[in-house]
Amino acid sequence: MTGTSRPAPEGKPGGKRARKTKVQVVGELKRVEMDTIPNCDMCVRPARYDAATITGAWAYLCEKHFLMIGTGKLGLGYGQELVERGA
Ligand SMILES: [Zn+2]
Repeated sequence: MTGTSRPAPEGKPGGKRARKTKVQVVGELKRVEMDTIPNCDMCVRPARYDAATITGAWAYLCEKHFLMIGTGKLGLGYGQELVERGA
């Protein structure tokens, strides 16, 4: 070892807003069992959440769209996770 070890650069692009990549769970997270998982309201992929969007309307959202237009929060009043019955 040469003793010149420096912490690796974190690779965060300066000036850019941090993207929402984490889901914040507020209160009680409900899992909703459904016989058939509906499609995302924004695309054709299966929805992962029934959640409030940034417009205030609720929608079925896949993971991608939940992170794009969702509030980033799940829980009572924010959103619920959808699970297929028997899965
Ligand atoms: Zn989608």
